Amino acid sequence: MEITANKPDRKSWIDIKENSDFPIQNIPFGVFTNNEDSTTVGVRIGDKAIDLASLQHLGYLKDIKSLEDDVFLYGTLNEFISLGSKTWRQARNRIADVFDKENTELQENKDHIEQIVYDIDDIIMQLPVYIGDYTDFYSSKEHATNVGTMFRDPENALLPNWLHIPVGYHGRASSVVLSDTDIRRPKGQTLPLGEKQPVFGQSNRIDFELEMAFITTDANEMGDTVAVDDAEDKIFGMVLFNDWSARDMQAWEYVPLGPFLAKNFASTISPWIVTLDALKPYKTVNTKQSPEPLPYLLQKGENNYDIKLQAAILPEESGIETIVTNTNFKHMYWTMAQQLAHHTVNGCNVMSGDLMGSGTISGPTPDSYGSMLELAWKGTKPVKLNDGTERKFINDNDTVILRGHCYNGTTRIGFGECRGKILPAKK
Ligand code: CA
Repeated sequence: MEITANKPDRKSWIDIKENSDFPIQNIPFGVFTNNEDSTTVGVRIGDKAIDLASLQHLGYLKDIKSLEDDVFLYGTLNEFISLGSKTWRQARNRIADVFDKENTELQENKDHIEQIVYDIDDIIMQLPVYIGDYTDFYSSKEHATNVGTMFRDPENALLPNWLHIPVGYHGRASSVVLSDTDIRRPKGQTLPLGEKQPVFGQSNRIDFELEMAFITTDANEMGDTVAVDDAEDKIFGMVLFNDWSARDMQAWEYVPLGPFLAKNFASTISPWIVTLDALKPYKTVNTKQSPEPLPYLLQKGENNYDIKLQAAILPEESGIETIVTNTNFKHMYWTMAQQLAHHTVNGCNVMSGDLMGSGTISGPTPDSYGSMLELAWKGTKPVKLNDGTERKFINDNDTVILRGHCYNGTTRIGFGECRGKILPAKK
């Protein structure tokens, strides 16, 4: 089925600002509560949120036979995502047609517009999916090399398995929160430099991790696997993802089983899920993988995505923002399809709404690193901010803002923002 929603010359009857992340070619999915206090699945076009429950109720989606009647009324996207990629594509194509400038069916019905279209400022975004499980990969070679160099041994920065396996660990789904949720600075055990005994107290090395995450449909029955060439069909879309980390706690606790309390106090996602269909025009060749992966991970063609990413720090006191890094999703070594194929190769079942983090996305140059740990090189090279202050890590009352978009010279498809503020530790 053709993805007609992506047609670059399509224009909407909804006003869209120049350089908007949300032209009619995007149509990302989310969940919002409107000013009448009802919660619905929706999509975004420009600065308008479209209530899909009402759009369906008023008959605009009746030709999509696989859409169940109440599928947009669950308060999460999980049921819709379970319907599979063919239905996602039909729905997005149809929504694009309804809001196309050439189409008058809804455009000229003021009463229906009032029930369907909301100003983005009049709604409250909710977590888009119920996340049953969250997995975090570690798939940027530059990031893994930098961390291996700092925490272990510059001569053997990458462990022997790294070039053969998309390394990952199981994270904690309960503390994945929506953009604009404040994050409390965690407390825990750390081992002060030069000491033999740990101490308990607040973390003094709070960091962001600039990541993206993909959200899956029901990918496989337990015991079955997802082939690497079928994996993208099981991925609904992507969000920006800040995997907050407490580096001092991490350094002390991570051996031998990996991250635990240093990572599970909070992870923040952006509210609008940009579909993999919308991102197809931005596919690009992947990094050459050497040694060649084992056959179950081997891919041909273009399997990576060109998504420009940045992170900024906004201190509360000055109110002056500084962009601290610019990187790109295409720097990932392992692709999303390889991650999902690997995740299921042992028969582990992946469900609708599962969240898979990419791992911190660091580029090849020091100004493209995806965490403060790397940008300030373990605190040895403080990062200067535009307000004249310096940061080794994230201070109390700093807001970290992640942004991302694709641009191919004609159409810009963006993710909006993923924001979170660090509050002082509890007394
Ligand atoms: Ca991470």
